[in-house]
Amino acid sequence: MRDVYTTLLLIFAVAIFICSCVVGRRDKRPLTKAIRYIMIAAPCTMAAYAAALISPSQFTAELMYAIYYTVSDVLLICMLFYALKYTNVYEIRTVQKVILYLVVAVDGLLMLMNVFSEKIFIFRCGLMEDAGTFFYGIAERGGLYNFHRLIIYGMVVLIVLPLVVKIVKSPVMYRKKFWLTLISLMIIIAANVLYLMMSMEIDFSVLTYGIMALAIYYFNVIYVPQGLVEGLLSSSIKNMDDSVVCFDIEGNCIYANSVAYGFFKAEGTGPFEDYYREWMNGRQLSEAEDAEWKETREVNSAKRYYDVSFKRLCDSNDNCVGCFFKMHDETVEVEKLAAERFRATHDRLTGIYNKEHFYDVVTDTVREAEPGSYCMVCSDIKNFKLVNDIFGINVGDEVLINIANTLKQLAGPGSVYGRLSGDRFAICMPRARFKPEVFANEIRRIGEKSGTSTYRICMHVGVYDIVDSNIAVSVMCDRAYMAIKTIKASLTDVIAHYDDGLRENSVSEQKMTGEFGDALDGGQFCFYIQPQVSVRGKILGGEALVRWIHPERGMVPPGEFIGILEKTGLICRLDMNTWELACRKLREWKDRGLTDYHISVNISPKDFYFADIYKVFTGLVEKYEISPRNLRLEITESAIMSDFEKQLVLIQRLQEYGFLVEMDDFGSGYSSLNMLKDMPVNTLKVDMGFLRQTDHQERSRTILKMIISLSKQLGMEVITEGVETKEQVDFLTDIGCDVFQGYYFARPMPVSEFEKKYFER
Ligand code: C2E
Ligand code: CA
Ligand code: CA
Repeated sequence: MRDVYTTLLLIFAVAIFICSCVVGRRDKRPLTKAIRYIMIAAPCTMAAYAAALISPSQFTAELMYAIYYTVSDVLLICMLFYALKYTNVYEIRTVQKVILYLVVAVDGLLMLMNVFSEKIFIFRCGLMEDAGTFFYGIAERGGLYNFHRLIIYGMVVLIVLPLVVKIVKSPVMYRKKFWLTLISLMIIIAANVLYLMMSMEIDFSVLTYGIMALAIYYFNVIYVPQGLVEGLLSSSIKNMDDSVVCFDIEGNCIYANSVAYGFFKAEGTGPFEDYYREWMNGRQLSEAEDAEWKETREVNSAKRYYDVSFKRLCDSNDNCVGCFFKMHDETVEVEKLAAERFRATHDRLTGIYNKEHFYDVVTDTVREAEPGSYCMVCSDIKNFKLVNDIFGINVGDEVLINIANTLKQLAGPGSVYGRLSGDRFAICMPRARFKPEVFANEIRRIGEKSGTSTYRICMHVGVYDIVDSNIAVSVMCDRAYMAIKTIKASLTDVIAHYDDGLRENSVSEQKMTGEFGDALDGGQFCFYIQPQVSVRGKILGGEALVRWIHPERGMVPPGEFIGILEKTGLICRLDMNTWELACRKLREWKDRGLTDYHISVNISPKDFYFADIYKVFTGLVEKYEISPRNLRLEITESAIMSDFEKQLVLIQRLQEYGFLVEMDDFGSGYSSLNMLKDMPVNTLKVDMGFLRQTDHQERSRTILKMIISLSKQLGMEVITEGVETKEQVDFLTDIGCDVFQGYYFARPMPVSEFEKKYFER
């Protein structure tokens, strides 16, 4: 019996030891570590006891028993640490740990001393017999043995306590794993009690240490309680936010979570099974395939969006054993996405399409429609910046919202509208539905509604008939805006149509401004001169009129480019060039002794923005050392009127320097006779409009008479432009005009021709 038992103990010990070395080495969790310590301490205990049983002498037997008792203390410490880690009920502090170690150390020391002292203060070994075999067993136990016992029982209590607490406090599902550990511990205790009570010679309970070590290892590392898994899985499905409905192979609903009951508004399993049958549509489960789709449902009168998936469940042999549906409520995501999409495609302020989205939708709409059936209507507010500046951003915003709302009303089926930028809106609509009167009315209404008594908002609309649906929407809008440009200055015209002439104009404008720089540097600009003649027929000089000698187009008259250059501000460079050419010519004449002749040069209203007129002209006469009297300056009436006070000062300074200033085109603008008295100019150039044949010729002549007599009285010289007939000359001479300029005398001519004609006689 003894031999069988010791062999069993040793085999068991070796097996457990090997297990402890192999398993869980890489697992560094504290619990696994505690289990490994148990798996090392348990075989040591068993080996020590086996060694004691087979000891040949009393001394070695006592030594082995002492080691056995000490190691079993250590094993209990390991178990205690394991139990604490496993249950997390309480922790022991370092001080308590030290006390534990000390107690065990004292116990171990006493055991060893017991061997050498030969006093039986703990235990004494004696020879025993077991079925004819003799071995040393514990023959007597001394009083101090109780100390060892106390340690053992104390530690058992400490181990059992947290397990019991856990069993009482944990959810039912978890109790099992604590039960199993507690039961294995109980087995050891029971076996031990049995050994002591029955005064057995061999302690069979030692084997239970090994069993317990293996059990702990098995329950913690290898065995995952099936019930726990199932419990966790079913509770996670139960608590899911998604609906889950499971079916067996026959199509019977075997489970549905509470969310699913809400989704199907079901009380029993009937609705689930109906849904299943509808989806299967007569197929067998084995014929169906996993699938995903979207569904919308009305829940509490609100639309909700679901992502539904169907999955088959198969066993390990790939046989279909059931299936389930899962409905994920993605309403929040869908609504968030919709809100984001709205933000990306709509204008924040007005809530209508933004430019990019408007372009996209128009592109599709126009492409799908019959060619030529749509038109693009774009709007622009005159001086919108002023509205913001004067009335504030809030009023400005209100105006814009107002316009957006009007667009909404005007847009019927098939129309697309949006806000292109700041104060620019566009609507793309079927041509047949565009009614200019309706738009004009709406524009007027917006003006009345948005303005104040002092400021009325003025809006213009440009229309482009979309003939070619393949051009970019931005180009369609550009064309509509090109049309607006033609009426921008008007207060009465509010709608303009685009035609191809406009585009050609704009293209040729662009071409011209592109060519300008090189043309100027290349000397393509020169001036012609038109003689100015006194009443007595004497040549006094002439007006410098610029000409572009274009390498391809020949001579281009100023009417074709002055306006464009004024728009872009390039006019200033051109004028400075002409002024310089005129001064150079005057210097040449001076050198030839021809100092009685003047040249009048034109100053564009735009030149005043871009150049310091005083500095430029004084600089020029000083550079060419000519008399300022010979360079006459023509300033248009409109330039003077645009900033009367400032121009007055400038004109006076120029006159003080010695220049003669002429007011060009007098009578073409808003001139008033009353204004003449404040005007410090030397000469009045009366606009040729007064000489044109009109129904009111008599009245024109009367006015002309008045102007001339008034300027005479104010000491101003009068030049009349555009004189074409002898009759005009006679009339003008009669009413007191001093100087004439016109085709009757001569057309503008190249300077060389002028010189030849008048100087070489
Ligand atoms: P403007 O200053 O009023 O110049 C007079 C224009 O009337 C000239 O046209 C001239 O050719 C034209 N003219 C002269 N006599 C008669 C006539 O008897 N009958 C008719 N029907 N027309 C006559 P042009 O040279 O084509 O110049 C047109 C306008 O271009 C000028 O009007 C002036 O405003 C502008 N311009 C010409 N040269 C320059 C320049 O160097 N700088 C600037 N800024 N503007 C210039
Ligand atoms: Ca002129
Ligand atoms: Ca003129």
